[in-house]
Amino acid sequence: RAKNAGRNTVRFYDPELHRAVEARFQLETELREALRRDEFEVHCQLQVNSDDRPVGAELLLRWAHPERGWVSPGEFIPVAEQTGLIVPIGQRVLEEACRRLAQWKHDPALRDLTLSVNVSARQFRHGTFVAELAGLLEATGAPGPRLKLEITESMLLEDIDHAIDNMQQLRELGIGFALDDFGTGYSSLAYLKQLPLSQLKIDQSFVRDVLDDPNDAAIAEMVVNLAHTLRLDVIAEGVETEDQRAFLMHLGCWHFQGFLYGRPATIETVEALAGTGEPLAPASGENDS
Ligand code: C2E
Ligand code: MG
Ligand code: MG
Ligand code: MG
Repeated sequence: RAKNAGRNTVRFYDPELHRAVEARFQLETELREALRRDEFEVHCQLQVNSDDRPVGAELLLRWAHPERGWVSPGEFIPVAEQTGLIVPIGQRVLEEACRRLAQWKHDPALRDLTLSVNVSARQFRHGTFVAELAGLLEATGAPGPRLKLEITESMLLEDIDHAIDNMQQLRELGIGFALDDFGTGYSSLAYLKQLPLSQLKIDQSFVRDVLDDPNDAAIAEMVVNLAHTLRLDVIAEGVETEDQRAFLMHLGCWHFQGFLYGRPATIETVEALAGTGEPLAPASGENDS
């Protein structure tokens, strides 16, 4: 906005800003098209316990752009959030989750797995979120206790009372909540104890150098201890090596997600891996994406 250009500068035209605005507008147009043409695909990454057995999976959105190939959610989710397109896009991910969970409940090898879905602030604040999700569970027959919603600290700050209210209503349907990217936001510990959470996710930025950086190790340890104190599950994301896993296990973290156990892959790939009922061999998962 021109007002923000500052008192000392009068900017009539900023080519860099102009380019950024154009690019964003282009992406927005393409996202609308993508929704219409159904170019989004939901991929999936396994989560395992300390015996390397699958306990769940996280759904991760992918966009098959007709010219650019796979576009990462890191690029398009922020624009989808700003434009509100995240509401219909996110709804598709929830539909996929419920459809799968409804199938899995009939399969002894898959019925205990949870499915985690990332939910953005805009989606969660949307007035009909709770009612639509409740309707989706009912329509598909998906078991609420197998569904986990991943939320972030920053989205809670915007309207904590409304967020807690939504969470409590969804908890009554059995739905769980994981706090994603934990430690990277601004959570107040006072808020944390009020939230009806089931899981903390140690952010991958702390896992990456957990063996070499004493600060990261201290933060990881703090998150694990906090989870135990608050009686929450804790899972580490971005686990790539056996040594990271061993270190985290030593801290008391018993659930893991990361390339060590497989890259995000199609849901069918993950179903096949988990469906064997066997422990996963670490670093065996050289799947796609
Ligand atoms: P996130 O929820 O924290 O997801 C974890 C990210 O870490 C994923 O990136 C995953 O592919 C990546 N990852 C997993 N294991 C490893 C590993 O061992 N090493 C490394 N370096 N990375 C690993 P991805 O798929 O690019 O997603 C990025 C973010 O986009 C997600 O972060 C999430 O915030 C957002 N996102 C993805 N799908 C959705 C969605 O359906 N809805 C919303 N609202 N956001 C989504
Ligand atoms: Mg996540
Ligand atoms: Mg995360
Ligand atoms: Mg992240």
